[in-house]
Amino acid sequence: MPDDPLAFPEACAFVGGDWHATAGRLPREDPSTGQVVGAIAGGGAAEIDAAVTAAGAALAGAWGAAAPAERGRLLLGLSALVRAQADRLARLEAEDVGKPLAQARADALALARYLEFYGGAADKILGETIPYLPGYAAFTWREPHGVTGHIVPWNYPMQIIGRSVGAALAAGNACVVKPAEDACQTALAFAALARAAGLPPGAVNVVPGTGAEAGAALAAHPRVRHLSFTGSPETGTAVQAAAARNHVPVTLELGGKSAQIVFADADLDRALPFLVGAGIQNAGQTCSAAARILVERAALARVTAAMAARYRALRAGPALEDLDLGPLISARQKARVESYLARGAGLARAAQGRVADHAPAGGHYLAPVLFAGVPPDHVLAQEEIFGPVQVLIPFDDEDEAAAIANGTPYGLVAAVWTADGARALRLARRLRAGQVFVNTYGAGGGVELPFGGSGRSGHGREKGLEALRGFTQLKTVALWHG
Ligand code: NAD
Repeated sequence: MPDDPLAFPEACAFVGGDWHATAGRLPREDPSTGQVVGAIAGGGAAEIDAAVTAAGAALAGAWGAAAPAERGRLLLGLSALVRAQADRLARLEAEDVGKPLAQARADALALARYLEFYGGAADKILGETIPYLPGYAAFTWREPHGVTGHIVPWNYPMQIIGRSVGAALAAGNACVVKPAEDACQTALAFAALARAAGLPPGAVNVVPGTGAEAGAALAAHPRVRHLSFTGSPETGTAVQAAAARNHVPVTLELGGKSAQIVFADADLDRALPFLVGAGIQNAGQTCSAAARILVERAALARVTAAMAARYRALRAGPALEDLDLGPLISARQKARVESYLARGAGLARAAQGRVADHAPAGGHYLAPVLFAGVPPDHVLAQEEIFGPVQVLIPFDDEDEAAAIANGTPYGLVAAVWTADGARALRLARRLRAGQVFVNTYGAGGGVELPFGGSGRSGHGREKGLEALRGFTQLKTVALWHG
């Protein structure tokens, strides 16, 4: 095992550069079969405190002393290791999350790309000089916060670690990661690779455990100086409340109810894979899922027929078989999506896909469903379902399209499909979303593109160079030289 850079022991946390067994243990389930296949660490307040202490020691020691270019070199080395191990990382994530292997592999490569991007940026985090009074020199430094906490959900562990931990490390912070109890293997593999890449002990710490124990302890820890949270709005509220008591900044990414708006002049052949793909990717368990497809009435029959044909061909099956979609993460998540389907019983179904005949009975599979003619205020058009469910909503003109698209409490991502460039730009201005795509869709890629939302989607931006602002604090220096 010592020669294998990716190996990690079962039911351990990674703290201060080493593995530590935790008192608690949690079951690890394979969502493709519903079987318990192992155990993970059940860390709590004691392990979180040890991790925060280790991160603080790293900042006082080798990690804090490393030149920015050295931090960058270490991240680039880690990126190369992740890339070399992409197939194994993909398998771990597919087993944990249930996502098809090809999607998991894309996530592993995205993690490598985040580390490459932020590794390259580590020595380019610049301050400014400020014209000030005669006799003064004034300038700013961008300094790390110190110890940063990263509470990660189960849907895209590798991508979310890449975008938040990658940026935080590049900026010189030391990180404590609390992965989701449903999917923490790749977080542990990441820790193993960070050690193999030579990151000093304590720069990266990973403590698996429940949200109520490890998550809450991290959010409330008085020596954590910044929190990055991705997950549900309810938990986001709890994390922000805990951070507020310590006067600590928080980045919240809380999901959405994103809309793609299709005008009659759109290139439907190009749009189609994006319209369906952004709904069923990761079985719809994606914060930027395009859960609502708004269609200009003149094109409604055409778009509905084309999407329905795709839906009928969709098959859900075991993650490692790499079909169109895998199972949902858990029985709980499946029950949640089914409860929404029950609330949509009165709606017309344009089409649905299938669960593969041979899919194990215990797996958490659901056939994807496309609803037609859904009123914009229907619960299925308003609330985040987080499953393979899309709704088609007709509209008559640009004003109505914008009003419907903006008519939820969320504001994460939107897309406009049209051949009319001026119309696309008018709508891009009007849409309440942190990212707007025109004749494309895809927040999952785009490492370079700042990402985040407003309202119930959260606040703050990750990804791109913008993330480095969030993971640093500005210090102003004014010097009188006479
Ligand atoms: P969650 O928000 O409870 O979990 C996300 C992370 O927060 C996990 O690591 C969890 O352990 C941790 N956590 C839970 N309670 C905590 C607490 N009190 N303090 C600190 N950390 C805590 O999400 P969930 O329960 O796994 O899923 C519920 C719903 O949230 C889903 O059905 C979905 O709608 C939504 N969700 C959204 C995203 C997203 O990417 N936006 C991701 C996961 C889930």
